[in-house]
Amino acid sequence: MSVIETLTQRNEAFSSSRFSADLKIMPSMKTMIIGCVDPRVDPVDIFGLAPGEAAVIRNVGGRITPSTLQTMAMLRIVAKASGGDIGPGWNLIVLHHNDCGITCLAHSPELLAKYFGVAPADLHALAIADPHKAVAVDVAALKANPFMADPIVGREPLRRDQGDDAPVPESETLTSEISCCYPTNEFYA
Ligand SMILES: [Zn+2]
Repeated sequence: MSVIETLTQRNEAFSSSRFSADLKIMPSMKTMIIGCVDPRVDPVDIFGLAPGEAAVIRNVGGRITPSTLQTMAMLRIVAKASGGDIGPGWNLIVLHHNDCGITCLAHSPELLAKYFGVAPADLHALAIADPHKAVAVDVAALKANPFMADPIVGREPLRRDQGDDAPVPESETLTSEISCCYPTNEFYA
């Protein structure tokens, strides 16, 4: 059986027996996660997510880029069209990991600069080779973005992973309420 045939079978099984038409488009955990496309660090696995619990945006590195912000803005419009909004009570998670493939692009500064919407000379400020620093950089970028200047980023990050074995997720959580719990070993007040 080919890979496509296998995946088609899984899709049929999902649609026939595991998909719930009662799920709402608004994530039930009021949580948005920005993570990497790396198949080893799927936020669904990392956080044990069930269908409908969280909105997940994935790109190379799980980084805040112009495209990420555009996607977030679009999701907010979708939320408003659904009678809700993304704001107080929501959790916003920036999830990076070590051994990330984005480090393989270090020799393609022009490509990275275009990806991040910055000049090649400014790439160093994005801590591309250091996921620990990169999480902090991206959280700061979100806080500084006018689009995000509302209660969704009203508090300091709560926690951060600091594992050493690859690929270990590195995350910081922005939340308007101290109400979330994630697999971490460092706490922020
Ligand atoms: Zn990655």
